[in-house]
Formats: sequence, structure tokens, C-alpha cells
Amino acid sequence: QAKQAGRNGMRFFDQRMQDTLSARAQLENELRTAFDHQQFELYYQGQVDADGRATGAEALIRWIKPDGASISPAQFIPLAEETGLILLLGDWVLEQACRQLRDWQHDAATRELVLSINVSAKQFRQPDFCARVRSAIERYGIVPARLKLELTEGLLLDNIEDTIASMTALKALGIKFSLDDFGTGYSSLQYLKRLPLDQLKIDQSFVRDLASDPNDQAIVLTIIAMARSLRLDVIAEGVETQAQRQLLAELGCDAYQGYLYSRPQPLPAFQSWLAEASPAATACA
Ligand code: C2E
Ligand code: MG
Ligand code: MG
Ligand code: MG
Repeated sequence: QAKQAGRNGMRFFDQRMQDTLSARAQLENELRTAFDHQQFELYYQGQVDADGRATGAEALIRWIKPDGASISPAQFIPLAEETGLILLLGDWVLEQACRQLRDWQHDAATRELVLSINVSAKQFRQPDFCARVRSAIERYGIVPARLKLELTEGLLLDNIEDTIASMTALKALGIKFSLDDFGTGYSSLQYLKRLPLDQLKIDQSFVRDLASDPNDQAIVLTIIAMARSLRLDVIAEGVETQAQRQLLAELGCDAYQGYLYSRPQPLPAFQSWLAEASPAATACA
């Protein structure tokens, strides 16, 4: 009896593993085809200063299927990382971002905007990553300080000496660094002070319940104090309500990103938002 059940259990398990594997293989295939057919698009989410003025944007990749459905990166970035496809995607994002910055630089209203892109560990660890960034900056003739790379704590701490060397080389080009999802990893001041960072980005998990959770308030206060003592800018992500924004301001945060201001959106919609968020800037155009 038991043996029988065990065998059946095993067969069932095999079948499930088989299904998982083929679903994975299928997604991998779809991703490659999507890349070949240029089904990826960059969305832009605004970032604002204490006065609510747009200072820049974060570029967030989307996979737009032929039927128009937009697939979140959370659903394909992990597999793209495992399979190495992230290198192609990452290059493409860098290219698009620099092209966009070039266009913005041609217009007085958008000249000062900073564009942040997310960089995955595999991409950052490429021996020629710095050369790729330099090449893109030079080809598009952009001011390097307008490009910001978002890295995560896990990536940075993985091999700290290599990380410092790579970041220092990139920093010499003039680009900026933001530490994404800050507070979810294990960085200590000891590590942070050795990294040539420009900004800490408070993870949205601390922002979500900020109004009701004193622990989150304490964490945010600590992060802002850390940023201050390291002379780093600080920005909060996932800001959805005025109450959150108000508390963040009281805790000393002075840059914000979230649905309260703008959703990640395709370029034309983002440009319209810009015109509204920075009326003064547009008036000079
Ligand atoms: P992330 O870099 O931490 O990006 C922030 C995520 O929070 C984005 O999700 C954004 O749409 C979402 N978000 C922004 N404001 C709010 C808000 O007010 N409320 C809530 N609930 N969410 C908000 P998204 O676009 O799905 O991206 C997920 C993650 O995928 C990103 O997290 C980033 O780690 C990764 N990713 C996105 N684009 C790229 C890319 O081009 N390259 C790489 N390597 N990773 C990317
Ligand atoms: Mg990010
Ligand atoms: Mg983040
Ligand atoms: Mg995140």
C-alpha cells in the first residue's frame, strides 16, 4: 500500500518538476524571441524634490507582448539573469537610456534631468562593463553625471574589493550611483563608507506602513541619519500617499518616487507628466 502510494507520489512529483522545467524553457524561448522582435520597452517613473519638482526618472523595463499585455520585470528578470539574457537586455537598457538623455540634453526644459537605470549583478560583473558604459556615454555625447546606476546591496557586498574597483573606475567617468532597495540587505556603515555612492534609496517596504508602524519610522530615521553622515542623497521609493510623503519629509527625506507623483509610464505619457510637474522649467523652453 505505502509503497504504491510512494511510487504514485514520486510519479506525481516528477510530473510537476517536468511541468516546471518546460514552463521555464518555454519562458526562456519566449524571452529570446521577444528580444529579437524588440518587444521590450522602457517605462519612465518620475522622481521629485522637496518642492515636488521633477528632477529625473527611473527607467523600468517592460515586456510588451504582441497582444499589448505588459509584463512586469519581476516576472522575467530573474530568469534573464539565470540564462545570461540579462547581458543583452542590460546593454539595450543602457543604450536606450543614453539615447534618451541625449534627447533631453537638447532641450532647455529637460537638460538637467537625471536618468537612473537598474543594473543586475551579472551585468555589473562583466569585465568590460566600464568600457561599455564609457562607450555609450561617448557615442551619445551625454553629460555623465546625468546617468545614475542603481545597484543593490547584495550585488555590492558579494565581492567588496572587486566592487570598489569597478565602481571607482565608473565613478571616474563621472556617472552617479544609487543603492537601491536600501535597508533590505546587510550593509553596515563600515562597508558603505568604502563605496563611492551618491544616493541611498529607501526600500518601499519601509514606506508602505510608515504612517502606522513606529518600527518603520525608526528604520527610515536611521537610514536618513546614515545617509547624512556619509554625505549621500536619500530618496524614498514607493511613495503612494500624502501621509507617507509628509512623514518622510518630517524624518528628513527630500526626494521622492512613487505612484503619488507618477506611475512608470511610456515616454510620451512621462513627457506630459514632466510638463506638469515642472511648469517653470517648461516655461523657459
Ligand atoms: P526597483 O528598481 O526597486 O523598482 C521599483 C519598483 O517599484 C518598480 O517595479 C516600480 O514600478 C514599483 N513602484 C514604483 N512606485 C511604486 C509605488 O508607489 N507603489 C508600489 N507598490 N510600487 C511602486 P517594476 O517596474 O515592476 O520593477 C521591479 C524590479 O525589476 C525593479 O525594482 C528592478 O529591480 C527590476 N528591474 C526593472 N527594470 C530593470 C532593468 O532595466 N534592468 C534590471 N536589471 N532590472 C530591472
Ligand atoms: Mg531601481
Ligand atoms: Mg528599489
Ligand atoms: Mg524594489
